[in-house]
Amino acid sequence: MKRAIFPGTFDPFTIGHYSIVKRGLNLFDEIIIAIGKNQSKKTLFSVEKRIEIVEQAFAGEKRVKVISYDSLTVDFAQSVDAGFILRGLRTVGDFEYERTIGDTNRILTGIETVILFTESAYSHISSTVARDLMSYGKDITEFLPPGVKIPL
Ligand code: ADP
Repeated sequence: MKRAIFPGTFDPFTIGHYSIVKRGLNLFDEIIIAIGKNQSKKTLFSVEKRIEIVEQAFAGEKRVKVISYDSLTVDFAQSVDAGFILRGLRTVGDFEYERTIGDTNRILTGIETVILFTESAYSHISSTVARDLMSYGKDITEFLPPGVKIPL
């Protein structure tokens, strides 16, 4: 069974993230969306809300699970017996960052990182912009996966 984790902060989980997971389901039998609880990173959405968005988005999809974690990502991957880390790539800026972490993780554990390029329609979507718009009272429904109800 090919199991991958899709780790991230997901503050909030966007339609861009959703698209990566949907496409990842063609490659993996199971994907665990791993929500990082980095204590030093202040988030707008609580862990509970971040989990709720993913649960709404993938309601009825048994091959997608969501778990929060606060350990090193590769340690978490090993603890759930995942052989792969799934990530999405939007820009060249993302590339350098992903390459460094991906190399480190493979050297440490043998876990391979699989990167999917974002669908061009979603390349401008980011959690940061969604948060900024929200802070000015704007509706962010279009940034979120289909089926996610606002207000959360
Ligand atoms: P992190 O804090 O680990 O960067 P994010 O929640 O920002 O976590 O992102 C998780 C993953 O989703 C990363 O691989 C990121 O590049 C990818 N990602 C973010 N936005 C998009 C998007 N619009 N399209 C495709 N991938 C995306």
